[in-house]
Amino acid sequence: MVDITMDDTSPYLLFTPGPLSTTGTVRAAMKRELSTWDPDYNELCDVIRRRLVDLAVAHPSSRPRFTAVLMQGSGTFTVESVIGSVIPPSGKLLVAVNGAYGRRMVQIAERLRIDCVELQHEEHEPVDPDRLAAALSDDDAITHVAYVHCETTTGLLHDGIGIGEVVSSAGRCLLIDAMSSFGGVPFDMEALRADYVVSSANKCIQGVPGFGFVIANRENLASTDGWARSVSLDLHDQWQVLEEQGGKLRFTSPTHVVHAFHQALDELDAEGGVSARNKRLVEIQNTLVAGMAELGFQTLLPSHLQSPVITTFLAPYDPAYSFPKFFEELKARGFFIYPGKITRAESFRIGSIGNITVDDMRNLLSAIGEVKERMGFSAAP
Ligand SMILES: *Cc1c(COP(=O)(O)O)cnc(C)c1O
Repeated sequence: MVDITMDDTSPYLLFTPGPLSTTGTVRAAMKRELSTWDPDYNELCDVIRRRLVDLAVAHPSSRPRFTAVLMQGSGTFTVESVIGSVIPPSGKLLVAVNGAYGRRMVQIAERLRIDCVELQHEEHEPVDPDRLAAALSDDDAITHVAYVHCETTTGLLHDGIGIGEVVSSAGRCLLIDAMSSFGGVPFDMEALRADYVVSSANKCIQGVPGFGFVIANRENLASTDGWARSVSLDLHDQWQVLEEQGGKLRFTSPTHVVHAFHQALDELDAEGGVSARNKRLVEIQNTLVAGMAELGFQTLLPSHLQSPVITTFLAPYDPAYSFPKFFEELKARGFFIYPGKITRAESFRIGSIGNITVDDMRNLLSAIGEVKERMGFSAAP
């Protein structure tokens, strides 16, 4: 067992899709205690909002048409805030589902009594624009469409262009859960035809957990006044207060986390922006897949569907293998990985985002080799 209470250094590197390993400077930014009523703190929130729009919208001339809203809570709270706030009382949501995070959006809509249909796909298949087009032309009641840009369940990344074209030519509103891709993968919400994009502080921007954010089409968001099914997750209200009170969040703001996020945005810029970060993540993920292949492990997805964010490996089909044991052995060596989340096969997942390097990934690979040897299993699925 690793003692996580001993000191303030981390007991392991996180090879997980958030929370993830952050830099010491991001964590140090949390030492500063700021008041939610301090105009300088609120200005920091406004700066962050502008920088998020810059990251989400490629063309500077288009940026004034978009706005960003921070929302307290984990990423799911922000997804729930969007679904619960921007669909009119008579609206209907179609969720294109190919994993657990898509299913969670359906669950949110159902819990909020929002009319909702699910367009189901296999977990190893991307959302099919043709099936989506057919579903939309079959049902005029559908006003909104949602999908998950990078399904963290598997690691599948959509290019999103075909989906966006279908939704936009059908005249529907598009919500994208880009939680695990935003900041780590080149992204332009205009090209994706998105009206709302959601992500959170503790994913590719490399902040710590505590809030999520929405980048929204300003005109669309402005039309949603009064539709929210919740007070604390009312997106329009949150936006109005941010706009009218100089970047003030309603209710207690996660001040330490926001300050750390600002630092994380500076560090993203210092790295060379999203394209440089993407290059690093791709290199780390390529190192992972090549090294695992040498050890005999197989990925769930073919490389053209694979994101640089997280990779699903099929579990070894060998009685000498058990995930809990494999996991514990790696954790004891300073590496934290995730169990699988797919329904059709045993698997495990290894993340490649966060403050990690190719060398860290090589170290994980040697540890996996060592553990495999020690447990005495063959990696073949
Ligand atoms: C991380 C993640 C979320 C949000 O999860 P939380 O645990 O609520 O932060 C939602 N969707 C996707 C695709 C994610 O990767």
